[in-house]
Amino acid sequence: MKKINIAIDGHSSCGKSTIAKQLAKYFSYLYIDTGAMYRAVCLYCLQTKIILDGVIDKKRLLSELNQIEVSFQYNSDKNVSETYLNGMNVEQEIRGLWVSENVSKISKIKAVREKMVSIQKAIGQHRGVVMDGRDIGTVVFPDAELKLFITASLKERAHRRHAELQDVSLEDIIKNLEDRDLDDSTRTENPLKQAKDAIIIDNTKLSIDEQFKRILNYCEQAMK
Ligand code: C5P
Repeated sequence: MKKINIAIDGHSSCGKSTIAKQLAKYFSYLYIDTGAMYRAVCLYCLQTKIILDGVIDKKRLLSELNQIEVSFQYNSDKNVSETYLNGMNVEQEIRGLWVSENVSKISKIKAVREKMVSIQKAIGQHRGVVMDGRDIGTVVFPDAELKLFITASLKERAHRRHAELQDVSLEDIIKNLEDRDLDDSTRTENPLKQAKDAIIIDNTKLSIDEQFKRILNYCEQAMK
């Protein structure tokens, strides 16, 4: 079977990372969560007060961008890859609402995107990568052999996220998802959009297992 790149895009909290991790495990491919990279840059900005009271000091961010190092390390106990910011494990911290509420301000900045996209492109050079995000099929891997665009209803996505973040209200989660969907799809730099050759999967009514089986078929076709 041919080694391919699998590009997975879609709205916030639609289950992209669940399917991406399943596929990476099944095919022994590398999984890269590009959202985690933007979240880590956002966390840096919050910790250093480059973002203060919701306002971003863009000039300072640009001057410190080359000091921000984002990487992944495999945790063999948990069987997952975890996100590191300048050598510190930030996997938990980047998932909180503090970061979710500010990350779109970071991800729309051209220089940030250029830095992230160039790292992502380099990772995919030798294929065998499953990458999820917003611009993977359109910008990072426009030549990916398989492109998926995952979606689900806002209500379903909010309930799934609420089950993970129990200390945050459902209303706050809905508001955050709506805001990020809007910001991500209307920004000038690499907005979230479906690649022309992407396969759309609406998983509102699909179980994780049903989705996996369906997508596995597409993968096997693309690997022939
Ligand atoms: O995927 P996740 O929800 O963790 O991504 C967090 C944020 O990072 C998104 O809301 C979006 O603003 C940004 N992002 C992006 N491009 C990507 C991946 C994520 O702009 N490829």
